[in-house]
Amino acid sequence: MARPEYLICLNCESPTYIFEWKDDDVIEAYCEICTSEEVDQFLTPDDFDALIGS
Ligand SMILES: [Zn+2]
Repeated sequence: MARPEYLICLNCESPTYIFEWKDDDVIEAYCEICTSEEVDQFLTPDDFDALIGS
């Protein structure tokens, strides 16, 4: 998977552009809105769509 333009914070459902992407995965992310930095709490836009679309 290519590096996405942004990630979505599951905590506040806001996009964040502050993240590190390596080997098809997120290794670091930070949400300016809710200050979350739990990598598990961030999804790519595609994954987020799949999650809410079902
Ligand atoms: Zn957030």
